[in-house]
Amino acid sequence: MYEWEKESPLIIHSARGSYLEDTRGRRYLDGVSSLWVNLHGHRKKEIDSAIRRQLLRVAHSTLLGLASPAAIELAEKIVRIAPPGLEKVFYSDDGSTAVEVALKMAFQYWQNKGGSYTRKKKFVRFPNAYHGDTLGAVSVGGIDLFHGIYRPLLFTTITGPSFYCYRCSFGKRRESCSSECIASLKGLLRRRRDEISAIIIEPLVQAAGGMIVMPRGHLAAIKDLCRTYGILLIADEVAVGFGRTGKMFACEHEGVTPDILVLAKGITGGYLPLAATLTTRDIYNAFRAPYRAMKTFFHGHSYTGNALACAAALANLEIFRKEKIIEHLPPKIHLLSRILEKARGLPHVGDARQCGLMAGIELVRSKTTKEPYPSSSRMGHRVCMRARRDGLIIRPLGDVVVIMPPLSVSAKALAKMGETIFRSVREETE
Ligand code: PLP
Repeated sequence: MYEWEKESPLIIHSARGSYLEDTRGRRYLDGVSSLWVNLHGHRKKEIDSAIRRQLLRVAHSTLLGLASPAAIELAEKIVRIAPPGLEKVFYSDDGSTAVEVALKMAFQYWQNKGGSYTRKKKFVRFPNAYHGDTLGAVSVGGIDLFHGIYRPLLFTTITGPSFYCYRCSFGKRRESCSSECIASLKGLLRRRRDEISAIIIEPLVQAAGGMIVMPRGHLAAIKDLCRTYGILLIADEVAVGFGRTGKMFACEHEGVTPDILVLAKGITGGYLPLAATLTTRDIYNAFRAPYRAMKTFFHGHSYTGNALACAAALANLEIFRKEKIIEHLPPKIHLLSRILEKARGLPHVGDARQCGLMAGIELVRSKTTKEPYPSSSRMGHRVCMRARRDGLIIRPLGDVVVIMPPLSVSAKALAKMGETIFRSVREETE
């Protein structure tokens, strides 16, 4: 708040398409999709009307012991488009709660199975991971800036290897890499499989960690290791789901079906909070028993499966289908690649990473040594504030400038966004 007050706060009053408008009537391109949620632009007619139509019936009724047509229909539709084998849907409110659901579900699955499986209580998490801000999600996170101070409050986890190729912890470069990180994970799982319940990962991109893109093939390799060692795979697609990577779900790129899939953010097209934790029939069946067996999954939030949010989500999926959103992404993805290619030529751009329409530009003091800027210089923040003066809202993650426009962004707006970022980086880092 201290910094925000000094920077003359921006108050968003309205929006249309990819643009936000503030209370003083200035327009800004929404370069981070209102924190990675918006897909088809603001005030999308179909979503607006779906919410209005639902409002005429009921805004909300509980899903604890009851159901609603919108929630039922949405569950059916999500299952249809999800990686094959994920057949059951558990609703909650946002990414963090959906992660809590996934962790509790994985943990209790082994407890419900009984016998020696009850020893499987630990989670493998990764450096630079982000799964939300509630304490379970923070426990499996790996970003010191956000998570460090809370360590005394968190459950213990097992830390896997880092997948941050630009700063490879095995000292490798692309040319010399033999996937040492995967080999190290394999050793870890082999040794400790009896105590590991699940691995939780952000497939393909560790978003909040700085848009860290996983090398191709790693996700499938991790799934294979999980299968070999009897460990559940939780794929957190809160950031990467719903088209951001160029496919509906990131797992599709490598033909992976996780045991548990976590969805939120874009599920409603960026309109309302809603989340879904999907799982397999096998996991579902481990909970399905008479009450006295005490296998029940005791978890429920007041607004779980909110009908307005489900209506928005149904309209969102219909837009994907009708407007062939995924099929129309490649030219925009290609344009973003060209923007990043140009950015790589700047003297203080150490790395520019991309997966679909998600990208991050890592600013460094020295390109040769990869020396970062001192955190006190807040270089990422300065670049983003500079871009704001030119009508672009972007946010940094440390010194990584994040680019994540709505999927509906026009080529013209995307090109302009690229120019603004290029100019802002050049001027601030000069
Ligand atoms: N998981 C991932 C991968 C995320 O990127 C985020 C948020 O950025 C979350 C979980 C938490 O989602 P929410 O902010 O909706 O709680």
